[in-house]
Amino acid sequence: MSHLLSKSKYIRGLQCERALWLDVYQPRLARYTREQMRRFDAGRDFEYSFKSTFPAAIDLSAELGRKVDAYPERTAQLLDANPAAVLFEAGFQYDNVLVLADVVCQREDGTLDIYEVKSGSQLSDTYRKDAAVQHYVISHCRRVNSFSIVHAKKQSENSEYSDYSDYSDNFDNRFAIVDLTEALAAQTDTVASNIAAMKDILAHGEPATPTGQHCLEPYACPYQHYCQQGVRQMSLFE
Ligand code: SF4
Repeated sequence: MSHLLSKSKYIRGLQCERALWLDVYQPRLARYTREQMRRFDAGRDFEYSFKSTFPAAIDLSAELGRKVDAYPERTAQLLDANPAAVLFEAGFQYDNVLVLADVVCQREDGTLDIYEVKSGSQLSDTYRKDAAVQHYVISHCRRVNSFSIVHAKKQSENSEYSDYSDYSDNFDNRFAIVDLTEALAAQTDTVASNIAAMKDILAHGEPATPTGQHCLEPYACPYQHYCQQGVRQMSLFE
């Protein structure tokens, strides 16, 4: 079953409705700087280093590549076949939103421990929103025991962050693991309402959102050249 939104489109939509619309209907207009590409690579390297602490995991991306709409069905097969399954890039879909979870560990009782890996050294608001939409989708598909964000540990970090006990033997001191399960569950209604609003945006034409400070926060929007082109044409005309 194909999907309308993904985790990254949801985050884009929270930043700007026009950026969401472009992401869905005109993604080829996106332009990323070298610095942004370098950060994506650094993020992937950090994610791989955390994943390497789960040597027995099955990586769905190795099997399915870019066929993202096939991930949920394959994930369900693997979880149903193996009570102790550990999966990378496990796919879940609900409410027309597809999410791929970095690391999913199934417990004997069938509940899931989920880890979302972020390379930043602080637990940002955007990381929490990203985790909230994942928790929303996954908890409508399976029972979630815990949902944690894994991020780079600062030298001085101590009591606020703790290693998650059941798996702590696997982890080294590069990773801060923050259990957000309760806080994310409390976000369910907000996420549902955001998704409904985004579907409404996507059911209409391109929004005429003007450029502004929101084009830079929390991320530099990859459509700035496109939107600024419109602004330049307007000023020439005026
Ligand atoms: S450049 Fe600004 S107005 Fe245009 S899509 Fe991006 S965030 Fe929205």
